[in-house]
Amino acid sequence: MPQKIWESALGELQVQVNKPNFDTWLKDTIGINYQGETFVIGAPNTFVAEWLETRLNSLIKKTLSSIIGKHVQIKYEVINLPMQPVAQKATRAYQTDGGISVKASRPTASSNLDTRYTFSNFITGESNRLAYAAALEVSENPGSVYNPLFIYSDTGLGKTHLLLAIGHATKASGHRVLYTSAEQLTNEFVFALKNNVTEEFHAKYRRIDILLVDDFQFLSGKVQTQECFYHIFNDLHKDNRQVVATCDCPPRAICALEKRLKSRMEGGLVADIKPPDQATRLAILKVKAKQLKTPISSEILLFIANQFRHNVRELEGGLNRVFTYAKLSGAELDMKTAMQALADLVARESRKDTATLTPEKILVSVANYYDLTPEALAGRRRDRKTALARQMAMYLLREQNNCSLSEIGEILGGRDHTTVLHGCGKISAETTINPQLARSLEELRQSLRIKGKP
Ligand code: ADP
Ligand code: MG
Repeated sequence: MPQKIWESALGELQVQVNKPNFDTWLKDTIGINYQGETFVIGAPNTFVAEWLETRLNSLIKKTLSSIIGKHVQIKYEVINLPMQPVAQKATRAYQTDGGISVKASRPTASSNLDTRYTFSNFITGESNRLAYAAALEVSENPGSVYNPLFIYSDTGLGKTHLLLAIGHATKASGHRVLYTSAEQLTNEFVFALKNNVTEEFHAKYRRIDILLVDDFQFLSGKVQTQECFYHIFNDLHKDNRQVVATCDCPPRAICALEKRLKSRMEGGLVADIKPPDQATRLAILKVKAKQLKTPISSEILLFIANQFRHNVRELEGGLNRVFTYAKLSGAELDMKTAMQALADLVARESRKDTATLTPEKILVSVANYYDLTPEALAGRRRDRKTALARQMAMYLLREQNNCSLSEIGEILGGRDHTTVLHGCGKISAETTINPQLARSLEELRQSLRIKGKP
């Protein structure tokens, strides 16, 4: 339970702190305990624990309190994570490469691969098909098809998942695999330089068959590490050993990356992952819901799928949040609970999403769809078609634009909020038993999505 709550919190913190900070300070933390008013967070080392306590405590407290629904105190403890071998002890000594500070601790690239991330639990759709197929191909024929394989996307879209899936598959077929992040690689290299053990460092990287480098963009500006990586890459590549990298942008867009390294990284296959479409989001939620071992209706899953469109981690966070909220509040896991659980997140997402999707656009789309005018929707006519279109507009204004019930009433000609509530409820209930209406709703959503884009 504490871990589920913490995962929801991480989903939210991820959008509130920038990516390097998230990856450095929050990514490897876990929820250890929640009792009384105290929530205990486990950090991989004292350095991280102290940093979280001094720099992020109030944000963490606020986020957790809003998820749990009451005020909590936070305690930080150091834990030994299986992915973080003891060698990665914290130190405050700093060393620089290319003018940017990095920790001069002795990090180890881990070949302990997180077992949650495999090909079998990666859901494919249009958005990730190429990257998935390439990753699978590479894991079946490493070093011979696409070398290097370079996968890029925005955050939370499954890059690390695919990278680790390649790791599992190739390890299982007897290859020597090394998974590391560009940051870890840099830290290790700096450590090796400082301690005169660069030979050992190079030897380690040349001993492997498959090198998996996550978050390659971190090499930006790290002049010496780039140089070192360039040589490692060449040595591996000439012996047909596989290199796979992930990044938040294509090679040519990485700033402060040596030209020759860019061209090396472009020399195999560059595949991107786009945000998942609705069907894929829904499929992901179904799998994750199964893992929670609690029945969650498809209506609720669809509601969650429609709120989080840009990031699978946030999508999962949304599901965890609904689940946790219902459990903690003892409420039934119904649509009302789901809406309450996600209220503030939905508001934030829809601000992101619907900057251009105004209530007027929704009205015009619905009116067009039913061959009516927007004025008719706000008017007094009560024939069946108009009433249905009006209810559809209510539902979509709520779902797509997160308008309050009274705002919707206002927009639709000064109706009161109970009328709107009734209308939304009617569409939500009817779409589950009337496939034609469900199709209309989906078509309207599609058209709004297209028109909603800038
Ligand atoms: P990235 O490295 O691109 O930031 P991750 O690989 O860490 O993203 O993915 C974030 C979360 O979303 C992980 O829990 C991952 O398992 C999940 N995820 C992303 N894409 C998919 C997918 N297509 N199928 C199943 N889970 C996914
Ligand atoms: Mg990642």
